[in-house]
Amino acid sequence: MVVSPERIRSLHKYEKAILAALERQMKRYEWVPLESLEQATGLSESEVTYRLSRLIAWGMVRFNPVPYDGYALVFGGYDTLALTTLTKKGTISALGTKIGEGKESVVYEALGLGPVAIKFHRIGMRSFNTARVNREYLPENGHCPWLIASKLSAEREYLALTTLHPKVSVPLPVGQNRNAVVMALITGPSLSRCRLDEPDEMLDAILENVREAYRLGMIHADLSEYNILIEDGKCVIIDWPQWMETNHQNAGTILERDITNILAFFERKYKIVREPGDVLRCVTG
Ligand code: ADP
Ligand code: MN
Repeated sequence: MVVSPERIRSLHKYEKAILAALERQMKRYEWVPLESLEQATGLSESEVTYRLSRLIAWGMVRFNPVPYDGYALVFGGYDTLALTTLTKKGTISALGTKIGEGKESVVYEALGLGPVAIKFHRIGMRSFNTARVNREYLPENGHCPWLIASKLSAEREYLALTTLHPKVSVPLPVGQNRNAVVMALITGPSLSRCRLDEPDEMLDAILENVREAYRLGMIHADLSEYNILIEDGKCVIIDWPQWMETNHQNAGTILERDITNILAFFERKYKIVREPGDVLRCVTG
């Protein structure tokens, strides 16, 4: 759950100071000792523990008593720091309802200059052992891998959007901080949930976007009917953090998998049959 804007607005300055201190100290500690937080903030022990108890109740901080009393930032706290910065910069003025939740993200509607979507990346411990082992940017060691990986994931997605927009149909990038990416809000269902009137044209348009991204050096690497949204009859490709460079050694395999996924979907749902080899040559040619 992401912390509500009301809660963020009502955060006491000591609570903000403690969150900021925790974030800095988590480069050194897995669990930040209480004394460290007292030193960093210049607050008394009773003040710090009182403020920490509130942050814990709001799901921003976690406490661990073994082997010493230590505190750690959790996703809720990291989201809050990102949201606070984005609000200060004027990128976001209000947070709306949740519009999506995946294994590794939570997406909210928000208000910026216009309606935007804000995606909080949440690369947790699970994904280090199992899926997405091809994500080379995941840190191998060092403290707080989830925090570093979630930030890197957001930065990577933002880089993809800024590189591709507007040549490739992706959401307009609006801003980025820590694990959060702000982009234009796309209103419309995913390809998986629509019933297209002209599926042949839509498939052409999708492949043309894949081709253009390839020309710009990027392969999506998680392309599916769930990561394509349809807005006013136009496709918009979302969910880019795992993109791969076209000169990567596995690029051929990954591109082929993206294309096979899309072709399989159109064959299943619309009985459109295309030769993957021909399509692949067309995209890379
Ligand atoms: P995940 O890696 O969790 O699948 P996505 O980027 O696919 O992350 O986002 C999850 C869901 O949030 C999407 O399936 C979609 O419903 C919604 N979503 C993401 N970005 C946007 C956007 N820019 N506009 C509207 N909805 C979005
Ligand atoms: Mn997705």
